[in-house]
Amino acid sequence: MIVTLRQGADADAVRKALAARGLWVSPLTDGTRVLHFAVSAASNAVSPSELSTIEGVASVAAPPSPHPRVTAQGPVVDVRGVAVGAPGKPVFLCGPCAVEGEERSEARAAKVAAAGAQMLRGGAYKPRTSPYAFQGHGEVALRWLRRAADAHGLRVVTEALGEGDVGLVTEYADLVQVGSRNMQNFALLKAVGRAGRPVLLKRAMAATLEEWLLAGEYLLSHGAPGVIFCERGIRGFDPLTRNLLDLGAVALLAHVYKLPVIVDPSHATGRRDLVAPLARAAIGAGAAGVMIETHDDPGSALSDGPQALAPGELRGVLDGLRALARPA
Ligand code: PEP
Ligand code: MN
Repeated sequence: MIVTLRQGADADAVRKALAARGLWVSPLTDGTRVLHFAVSAASNAVSPSELSTIEGVASVAAPPSPHPRVTAQGPVVDVRGVAVGAPGKPVFLCGPCAVEGEERSEARAAKVAAAGAQMLRGGAYKPRTSPYAFQGHGEVALRWLRRAADAHGLRVVTEALGEGDVGLVTEYADLVQVGSRNMQNFALLKAVGRAGRPVLLKRAMAATLEEWLLAGEYLLSHGAPGVIFCERGIRGFDPLTRNLLDLGAVALLAHVYKLPVIVDPSHATGRRDLVAPLARAAIGAGAAGVMIETHDDPGSALSDGPQALAPGELRGVLDGLRALARPA
């Protein structure tokens, strides 16, 4: 941004006022006097209109945002009556990696609801690295998931894997998930946006924050009523944790861009013993909630068993997160 000074303004006082807002400040002179300051923040933390209220500032010029709808969205997205991003009220999206059966879904929904989650997760269409791995039960799993969620007052979040699934997934889901492998599948983003449901947009494994925000812009510009960003770990170099949870990105999106961010510590680490500590770190970093995979019998899970929490553990973890998020 370029901040232009009024004639006779106290340039040093303006510089200090800008620096006090955490901005990088460079003076632009005519050789003798400071006429403007070039200022940059890592983001849209400080609005041009706020800077123009500083004593001695004549005007502020800011370049247009490449993702104006995301920038203007705000911190709360409504998912059929559940406010994601409301201060002090973390939202929990829990359930198995994949929907595995009708009775299992019902039993799991009961436990997830009893633990205090607001949304039931589970994939009917699974993005698997190997074509020989379990691919999901498809449409019937959407019905099982919906019925189980409705029986326990839960919202449904589930993934649309391809453009062809969007219509069906939208019939059953309150929140449509776009998986990390699809974050830049622009045809899918357009189709999901047109479906008119709020979207949980997972960050791709090697996406920059700008690419992630622009993917959100695709959704909003094609009609999505809201985008919730989901950090699920990026590619690191160490195989002991499945991925590398980028909590800096969470803090930046939550505190600076003022966007709702959900953290998925299950896919971020691939191991259940790290889910609770990273979920706490996520809430500390400003996440609006967490997505946690759970399974009654992780050893028999059709996918991602090693990272699933048993439902007995879930309640204690969610109680702890709620306490952490409560304003002091
Ligand atoms: C999931 O949440 O079911 C999933 C496949 O996650 P990701 O897209 O983050 O790998
Ligand atoms: Mn999974």
